[in-house]
Amino acid sequence: MRCPYCRHPDSRVVDSREAEDGQIIRRRRACQACTRRFTTVEEAVLAVVKRSGVTEPFSREKIIAGVRKACQGRPVDDDAIALLAQRVEETVRARGAAEIPSHEVGLAILGPLRELDEVAYLRFASVYRSFESLEDFEREIQALRAAKQNEDGGGDPAHNGRVGTAKS
Ligand SMILES: [Zn+2]
Repeated sequence: MRCPYCRHPDSRVVDSREAEDGQIIRRRRACQACTRRFTTVEEAVLAVVKRSGVTEPFSREKIIAGVRKACQGRPVDDDAIALLAQRVEETVRARGAAEIPSHEVGLAILGPLRELDEVAYLRFASVYRSFESLEDFEREIQALRAAKQNEDGGGDPAHNGRVGTAKS
């Protein structure tokens, strides 16, 4: 690790401490040349495995960028998106695996995004699940309605619409 002040390649660790429940380690270092101090953060790399088999480090920024795109023109602020990305990161890290398939990252986004904004959710789902037809959207919207009704406590059968799923 080069000294950020003088670019000297050697530094000495003067202090280490764990942060965020042991997920990361911060080290205080002193440059061997200019003696100035700086901090480094060490964190296990969570690799995302893409469909092609290529891996890349998990990036919260990437999630934020993807979700922000889906939220364009929607009443969703940046704080909510940042919070969502944090939740997604916690979900995927909680598995404790060193590698995670990219589709599982996508799945971890869908749940909280649905709570945040249904239109953004549909946009994201249409890309993520590669919707190809109106029927795909219709199916997803029906699933959204059904889920909403369940959350509302079963709902009123009279409002189940033309699908006619009401039971007596
Ligand atoms: Zn230095």
